[in-house]
Amino acid sequence: MILTFLGVGEAFGQFANTSILVDGKLLLDCGPHTLLQLRKQQQDLKEIELVFLSHFHGDHTLGLPALLLASREENREEELKIFGPSGLREKIEDLLEISYRKSIEDLSFELDTFEVPDLKEGTTHKDYKLEFAQTTHSIECCSIAISKNGEKMTYTSDGAPTEDTVSIASDSNILIAEAYGEGFSGHSSAVKAAELAFRSHSKSLALVHISRTKNGAEELEKAKRIFKNSFLPTDSLTVSKTFLF
Ligand SMILES: [Zn+2]
Ligand SMILES: [Zn+2]
Repeated sequence: MILTFLGVGEAFGQFANTSILVDGKLLLDCGPHTLLQLRKQQQDLKEIELVFLSHFHGDHTLGLPALLLASREENREEELKIFGPSGLREKIEDLLEISYRKSIEDLSFELDTFEVPDLKEGTTHKDYKLEFAQTTHSIECCSIAISKNGEKMTYTSDGAPTEDTVSIASDSNILIAEAYGEGFSGHSSAVKAAELAFRSHSKSLALVHISRTKNGAEELEKAKRIFKNSFLPTDSLTVSKTFLF
């Protein structure tokens, strides 16, 4: 599995919004900076098969209209799968309408939408196994675990971990966890992320979505005291198994 951190930042900070690209095919979250970050990778948009929207906060969704309409301009014909919270299709219609007065009908390709709460047992996409777990955030928000050929990555997205998050993250090669900081309700922290990595027997921990009010290096030290194999990814960093071990 090859992972690209398109962004590692929170909503209003100095880094691109948190978004991860898996094998150039699966896009996890799509904030306002995501299309620009994909362009920097010279990513062919047609190669993206699936988009996962963890929740409907703008730093995770507002880049979707640009992604869909840029794909249309590039004559995409391949169907695109989108996974997200309850009310997903209506939300995509709203986003297209408010940003460009367009609708799903105007796209040159089909959107196949899946509401994550309907997928309690998880699902598959080609060779990938997908599992989901609700976090404790200010609105409905899901974590995702993706496995393929004995490798596994888990992305918590926003919110404090739950027992379900611990369960889907089990034995991940890499856990990408929100670490906004202590003292913010509905968020996780470096310490909680490290505890999640420890309890889920993950092999490495990437801290993302750290509050702009916190010092990243200090947060990393807090995590390392609990879970040694923690690191701070940067925007546009690509990692693979070779990097992690
Ligand atoms: Zn966020
Ligand atoms: Zn959020």
